[in-house]
Amino acid sequence: VTFADLGLAENILKAVTEAGYTIPTPIQAEAIPHIAMGGDVTGIAQTGTGKTAAFVLPMIQRLSTGRARARMPRCLILCPTRELAAQVAENFEKYGKYLKLTMALLIGGVSFKDQETLLQRGVDVLIATPGRLMDQFDRGKLLLMGVETLIIDEADRMLDMGFIPDIEKICTKLPANRQTLLFSATFPADIQRLAKTFQKDPKKIEV
Ligand code: AMP
Repeated sequence: VTFADLGLAENILKAVTEAGYTIPTPIQAEAIPHIAMGGDVTGIAQTGTGKTAAFVLPMIQRLSTGRARARMPRCLILCPTRELAAQVAENFEKYGKYLKLTMALLIGGVSFKDQETLLQRGVDVLIATPGRLMDQFDRGKLLLMGVETLIIDEADRMLDMGFIPDIEKICTKLPANRQTLLFSATFPADIQRLAKTFQKDPKKIEV
């Protein structure tokens, strides 16, 4: 299998080639076509398996059509830490360099003011830690009814950090007919429950 076989557009394949990747990892081969078609995925995968590109590449493809509206991100990515959020943002920049995607980060250590301006204008992708996201939502700075895809990354670490109630609260603010992707290194009962409650007929991929 090559990246071209997975149905990715030319301007994404070009960035992938420039990143030096030739062969999709197993999770990428399974997840990319399904996510690109709008399906839900539960990915049980450790860091190092290529799981970030497994969701970033098809999301870039989905976001390349349509347009962001003011204060309404189209793709919301929840991460346990600001380091991980920054890494995910770097991936969007790397693979999306030939597309015009807009992005904001809501994490500790990044100025609210700058991100607020971006959000106000409208972003395709919002990457956030759950606490920061709830702060902004409660302050009325953010509208979540435009979210087409929710991505929960490293769900088991979010569980360890006590973020599950925040995530559940966020999920209730999102449109019901969205795509939901969940990635976790392990799949304990609390994460299984989260997947069962908030995902629709997900494809389970374990690597
Ligand atoms: P991740 O599991 O998302 O943390 O990715 C682990 C590392 O693998 C990252 O440094 C990526 O740049 C790299 N990587 C992701 N996909 C591929 C691929 N298909 N071929 C080679 N390296 C990759």
